[in-house]
Amino acid sequence: TALDSPPLGLILADIVRSHRPRSEAGSIPAGIPHLASPPFDRFGIAVATTSGDVFSAGDADLPFSIQSISKVFTLAMALGADDPGTLWSRVLREPSGTSFNSLVQLEVEHGIPRNPFINSGALVVTDHLTERFPDAAGHVLQFLRDQAGPHGGRQGPFIDEAAAKSELANSSRNLALAHFLKDFGNLHRPAEAVVENYVRQCSIMMSCVEVAKAGLFLARGGRGTNGTVLSRSEAKRIGSIMLTCGMYDAAGEFAYRVGLPGKSGVGGGILVVVPGECSICVWSPRLDSKGNSLAGTAALADLSDRTGWSVF
Ligand code: GLU
Repeated sequence: TALDSPPLGLILADIVRSHRPRSEAGSIPAGIPHLASPPFDRFGIAVATTSGDVFSAGDADLPFSIQSISKVFTLAMALGADDPGTLWSRVLREPSGTSFNSLVQLEVEHGIPRNPFINSGALVVTDHLTERFPDAAGHVLQFLRDQAGPHGGRQGPFIDEAAAKSELANSSRNLALAHFLKDFGNLHRPAEAVVENYVRQCSIMMSCVEVAKAGLFLARGGRGTNGTVLSRSEAKRIGSIMLTCGMYDAAGEFAYRVGLPGKSGVGGGILVVVPGECSICVWSPRLDSKGNSLAGTAALADLSDRTGWSVF
């Protein structure tokens, strides 16, 4: 392992000292009023290791809106409940190179989204999961609660219903994507029900510690807290899709700087997996122009340089 001196706890404390934002640089996401609230200088980081330890620093116990990080977990749930190959006949595995909520490519690809981490693809995944579990968001939440476990008397993952409601009232674009998919025959449940589940899954609140623990099954070849979540090869594939498609249209830049599979959300969180080693979550709310946490990305680049953690 790369855990030589200085110990990981000290490295994380140092990362917080150097990367906690000191100015309001960066942007806040538009269209989800509830997300605009965290102060700009919030910064937390947590590492859950495959040997069962959790290290954290900064605001690592404060819940934040996981937003698109949820797409990793719904994909895992959908693949776990899949009749082999069904889901992959409905969504591709190619980086999109366009914005996460783009409509154009959907028309070019005849209703087959480029990957499961852009909104159109995530809607197909949620639709797939909703066929098996009508309360798909509740199903994902339960999974996250099981994985993150009770700790320190905290309430664990929960859905911010007010944020979900506020986003649902501003969901014209996701509804348009859902209806467009339906017109191509690639949405089976009613568009409104799928978007509602999607928005509620995005509105799950978790802390860095909880996200890191919940993502650990990906670092452990599919083995979760209470048994197997996915086969080793499925876990590997989710990591591959995170590496190529997990950071909006900055996946290449993130792979260059961090060298690890990651998934970000507009709430400012990023989940990163170091296969065989650990799962990492960093959170800081201000975003760069591509929608990824500004301080979070810089911190992960620093952490991977300092620990040698990389898939390369
Ligand atoms: N709920 C957000 C949306 O669909 C998620 C955005 C994101 O984190 O990428 O617009």
